[in-house]
Amino acid sequence: MKKSVAILFAFIISQFHAQQGSYYQQSAKYKMDIDVNAEKFTYEGKQTLDYKNNSPDVLDVVYFHLYWNAFKPGSMMDQRVAGQGKNGDSRLQKDGISRLASIPKDQEGAQNIHWIRQNGKILKYEIQETVMKVYLAEPVKPNSSTTFILEWDAVIPQQIRRSGRNNREGVDMTMTQWYPKIAEYDYDGWATFDYIGREFHAPFSDFDVTIKINKDYVIGAGGILENPADVKGYDANARIRADKNKATWRWTAKNILDFAWAADRDYIIKSFEVPQGPKVFLVYQNNDKTKAWEEAQPYLTKYYQLMNAHFGKYAYPTYAFIQGGDGGMEYGMCTMILGEAKNIEGLMGLMAHEGAHSWYQQMLATNEPMRPWMDEGFTSYAEGYVMNQLFPPAQKLPNPFFNSINAYRNFVKKGIEEPAVWLGDHHDNGTSYTYASYVKGELYLVELGYIMGEQNLAETLKQYYDQWALKHPSDRDFLHIAQKVSGMDLKWFQNYWINTTKTIDYGIKDIKYDAKSTTITLVNNGQVPMPIDFSIMTADKKIFNYQIPMNMTHTWKTKDAYGDFKTMPYWPWTQKEYTLTVPYTKSQLSMVGIDISQRLADVNPDDNFVEVK
Ligand SMILES: [Zn+2]
Repeated sequence: MKKSVAILFAFIISQFHAQQGSYYQQSAKYKMDIDVNAEKFTYEGKQTLDYKNNSPDVLDVVYFHLYWNAFKPGSMMDQRVAGQGKNGDSRLQKDGISRLASIPKDQEGAQNIHWIRQNGKILKYEIQETVMKVYLAEPVKPNSSTTFILEWDAVIPQQIRRSGRNNREGVDMTMTQWYPKIAEYDYDGWATFDYIGREFHAPFSDFDVTIKINKDYVIGAGGILENPADVKGYDANARIRADKNKATWRWTAKNILDFAWAADRDYIIKSFEVPQGPKVFLVYQNNDKTKAWEEAQPYLTKYYQLMNAHFGKYAYPTYAFIQGGDGGMEYGMCTMILGEAKNIEGLMGLMAHEGAHSWYQQMLATNEPMRPWMDEGFTSYAEGYVMNQLFPPAQKLPNPFFNSINAYRNFVKKGIEEPAVWLGDHHDNGTSYTYASYVKGELYLVELGYIMGEQNLAETLKQYYDQWALKHPSDRDFLHIAQKVSGMDLKWFQNYWINTTKTIDYGIKDIKYDAKSTTITLVNNGQVPMPIDFSIMTADKKIFNYQIPMNMTHTWKTKDAYGDFKTMPYWPWTQKEYTLTVPYTKSQLSMVGIDISQRLADVNPDDNFVEVK
């Protein structure tokens, strides 16, 4: 009850914002009837879609995604994988050759549209592989709704990535991006990205899905199962009809981006309630390789408590971790992940990442193909934040993100870094995409924490959630909040960090010891200017921190999670060197250095510290 009130409240807030300015968001309601032929791996579908145009624009076309059309030889996805060769995603290839090229004819994915009607009228449409453009009989005016009905049949593709049949872990059907899905329309226009294997975007939608499938199957899905007593796996007292070959499952979900499900005959279902929510479902095949799943409950309970407290409350009543049998990918109220795990820490790493996408992708629904650094990067940050508390490292790290900073430093040396601002699908090199989106996006928040102070970063993340949960924020919206919370100008940082591959490189150039003081000369050898946290450690191991503001922020932090700072005169970003004098003699000092927290993503940290001997 409480949870639906929270969703309603967020909905009212979103309406309020829509009236205030130019922000609006489209909405959709799907009702689908699906009849699965489990022997042939096909299904027949009928969809009724109520679509509400909340934009100020008249729409005379709409677009749908037909993702499964990508899973065949010669598709754009196949061409892309082939073109990238060994630089591409290794999971899409075998020995550098696209796995799509060898999909047998009868296992090619397909979504075959039979017809589509709008308010009863048959519509013309054009299909370019995974994108269907539909010409409307009646344009949809601002603030009005229309209803589409369509019929189609589909072939569940050979599993390549994410969706598909009979994957290597033996999951029969992983049903993701499996139905004709209306594209998102917003201020950026229609999000009609061809599917070539990466991310998704969609309007918030309600779902009411009926699935008929052979009754020995168990389904895991992101949603509420409305009839557990009629199907296998969820209710010990279930009565499955003996006179029929198929069971009928009914799933509903409210205000999610997409509905995903998986079906297998060997799935078991475990569930538990996290205090204050959500109810968590574990859906997996119980065998030697999935032993770690049995240990997950206490970690997941703590996980949701940490996430809710730091990043904002999970807004939906349930969440399902489903063994999809391949990698990990996030969907509405569920994820599909690999079942096999080395140990509980390995399993939790994956669960923590995919689970955190409920925040940075699902609730804070940024445009993933356009700004992959916002969902993958922020999610990686949340994963690091939580994993550091669930599994504190044996050797204490200076900060939870230290390993990511180190990985970034090593990657930069390769000289193949690409700017994070690029469209996700258009990175040619798979590793460059990973660093641009996951690592650069994660470090965007780490560097902001360094610049603004950890309290301001935590407050920014809170306000971002409060203002934008269940909406479609952009990077501008996030930056707007960060600047308001900190009082700092941060545009320069976002521009350098996201739009370019310029790097940070400060160092200590020179130290002069005098009778009563010590004078240190710092140098900026890099291209990205930053404020500098400078610290000294005295001979008796006391630490004193100095903050050297960079002039563009126009204000500065005086404290951080790591201590208080004495403010020094600012360092103009155009100026190469900076000199400061501290009232300690050589014999009173044991160490001087830049950034003792080691959050600064300085690419050459070796010259940042000097031991005083
Ligand atoms: Zn991710």
